[in-house]
Amino acid sequence: MIREGNEETDPEFIARLASYLGFDEKRVKRLFEKNYLARNWGKYEHLLRFDKEISHIERGTVLYEKDSSFEIIMGFPKIRRAMVLNPTLKRHFSGLEKVAVEEKMNGYNVRIAIVEEQILAITRSGYICPYTTQKAKEKLDLRFFDDFPELVLYGEMVGPDNPYVSKEIYGIESVAFYIFDIREKNTGKPLPISRRHEILKKYDFSQVRSFNEIPLETAAEEIGKIVRELGEKEHEGVIIKDPEMVLSPLKYTSSQSNCSDLRHAFKFYNETGRDFMLSRIVREGFQTVEWNENEIEFENRCMQLGESILDSLRKSIRSVKDGQRLYEEARIRVRDLKTAADFEEYLKRLGVDTIFEEPQSVGEEYLIIIKKINKSTNDKTQAIWQGEPW
Ligand code: ATP
Ligand code: MG
Repeated sequence: MIREGNEETDPEFIARLASYLGFDEKRVKRLFEKNYLARNWGKYEHLLRFDKEISHIERGTVLYEKDSSFEIIMGFPKIRRAMVLNPTLKRHFSGLEKVAVEEKMNGYNVRIAIVEEQILAITRSGYICPYTTQKAKEKLDLRFFDDFPELVLYGEMVGPDNPYVSKEIYGIESVAFYIFDIREKNTGKPLPISRRHEILKKYDFSQVRSFNEIPLETAAEEIGKIVRELGEKEHEGVIIKDPEMVLSPLKYTSSQSNCSDLRHAFKFYNETGRDFMLSRIVREGFQTVEWNENEIEFENRCMQLGESILDSLRKSIRSVKDGQRLYEEARIRVRDLKTAADFEEYLKRLGVDTIFEEPQSVGEEYLIIIKKINKSTNDKTQAIWQGEPW
């Protein structure tokens, strides 16, 4: 198929897309104009992405032409948070005997699918990430996609060689994919958990840790214990799911994970959204009350919360005062330097300001440190030191 790259203005294309989506043509045109429906670029230009949730279509959904119609890879639906375990679980999962509990791993969300005979890794926002795509090809048993071309893997890419969310806590040497969901193309319908486990086992994919099924009656108490234990290891928390995947999941996280988010948030205090900061503090309030903590436990929580905020601020403010610039460091590991070059180009297209350092050889691969300058916090802090009022 010949693609001109400006199909948005091609009335025939708009008409076909409108009829496929069940929208009127004007609406589709408007979506393009506002960039709510946008394109990837370069060799992925023909892959459209929804940059915003539209009707029943999740943000990050990817759509492309297939045969004489279209095919859709649905975005990963946002998971609502239980602020308190009791009564939220009982209310949300009412009617179920048991709920399935899984670890919520802390990395970044990716979808892996076969699109026009190519394996692609798609980010939450619907971009094709060249680095993640390459890692998926290296690390996953691709026979899965020959056997199930109509299924999409949803997983978390975790580990230190990770440009987005880098964590050492899982004992992973480089990066690994942990699959937590399998869904059908087009409908976005998830497989029941037992079926997912069966398939993942067959292809030897890593799965997120499962805490099995827990009776709804005792779930709040049991999950409270699990989350405290996970927190002690700096792990994030849990996702609570309907075993049949009919009801939507809920999430619940540890205090340590809130504090770890706050540490990062306040280090770059002028970059971080206020909502992000506030929500994590409010969670701490509900958790301490729900868990009925005594004075010692409460003081401990206060210390940790306070320290995660103030220690980060102190470090950042001191650095700038001493004339250093604030930056975030991430790293990637590649077999072929072309992957790093593609990734650098990709970040540039996304408007992320980074510096890629010289590659270092490690075995057969190259390690590359990426520095991201946090200009806004830098400038703000410097201005304040120069006497600027807030
Ligand atoms: P956060 O990760 O901070 O909760 P988010 O916006 O990514 O923010 P949600 O949209 O609620 O949160 O999605 C939950 C996230 O948890 C997803 O990004 C998903 O990648 C991740 N995740 C980790 N482990 C699991 C799991 N076992 N089941 C489902 N999602 C998981
Ligand atoms: Mg996350």
